[in-house]
Amino acid sequence: MLDILIIGGGPIGLACALEAQTEGLSFLIVEKGCLVNSLYNYPSTMTFFSTSEKLEIGGIPFVTISNKPTRSEALEYYRRVATSNNLPINLFEEVKSVKKENDIFTIITSKATYQAKKVIVSTGFYDIAVTLGIRGEDLPKVKHYYKDPHYYAMQKIVVVGSSNSAIDVALETYRKGAEVTLVIRGDEVSDRVKYWVRPDIINRIKEGSIKAYFNSHLKTVREHEVDIETPAGLVTIPNDFVMAMTGYKPNFDFLKKLGITLTEDKFIPQYNPETMETNLPGLYLAGVVCGGMDTHLWFIENSRVHAEMIIEDIIKK
Ligand code: FAD
Repeated sequence: MLDILIIGGGPIGLACALEAQTEGLSFLIVEKGCLVNSLYNYPSTMTFFSTSEKLEIGGIPFVTISNKPTRSEALEYYRRVATSNNLPINLFEEVKSVKKENDIFTIITSKATYQAKKVIVSTGFYDIAVTLGIRGEDLPKVKHYYKDPHYYAMQKIVVVGSSNSAIDVALETYRKGAEVTLVIRGDEVSDRVKYWVRPDIINRIKEGSIKAYFNSHLKTVREHEVDIETPAGLVTIPNDFVMAMTGYKPNFDFLKKLGITLTEDKFIPQYNPETMETNLPGLYLAGVVCGGMDTHLWFIENSRVHAEMIIEDIIKK
């Protein structure tokens, strides 16, 4: 019988584990992929927008030469945090269901069954891409995840979206020799784009090195071309790859199956913001999963505090 089972070995799951360890509670993290699986799957070229001290967990210093760490540095940091603190973590094991009976949770995974007094759900948001729902989206040339710009050199690519991910893809692939067209739903580049990147993309669009269609939607994808619905009518352009950078969402079916109530509009899970306990007593939420469809609300910087809130509540009870 564990005091706590933590679902998800991302930065916030690890933060919860460190806090539980400090308080002498027994716990296990179950992670369906590799350690900090989401970060591992981020673009290999990425640099965090947060400075390194804001990504620290458990008060353990994250030392980097530049103020903003790269993905590789973050992988090093979180791995060393996990190994040097001997955090019990089962990797490549997926939690399939959680049932509560007589105040005890039974957790069934792809490999075993566990019992715990409390459960923390820190399952993130990066596993399920928000799809476009258009004809041709199932073609292999349509990608929802981006790893590296070199692959797209000398290719005609359409990037859908105007978030940080979309703009990074557009700029990086353009600089590796891709012919880039942006398709943007609104009438400007999102004001959430990092303040040091936004002028770069605006200037590339102005000078015409990156083509952008504003107030536009990608309508159909075919093997060698795409149709874009623009204010001036339907435009067809030759195309090799579509990067649909239209965001990701938490696994809402999984949350519902656990018994967590979600709001109807944005699927925001019900929890007490002071304790992070959900409508199901003893089941807690931590990290980016708390935001429902608003995946930009919570990130490492501002959600690492969930760990202290949850463990404090568990100790109190
Ligand atoms: P995640 O890191 O997503 O971890 C959740 C884990 O749960 C995953 O490893 C997943 O495999 C696992 N899991 C899911 N379901 C199950 C299951 N059923 N059973 C077992 N395991 C499961 N945030 C910042 O604060 N600063 C930044 O600079 C920053 N830059 C970013 C740049 C990019 C390109 C992106 C995409 C995000 C960035 N973020 C940043 C956001 C940040 O990375 C996430 O908010 C963060 O990963 C949240 O941590 P988490 O532990 O809540 O979720």
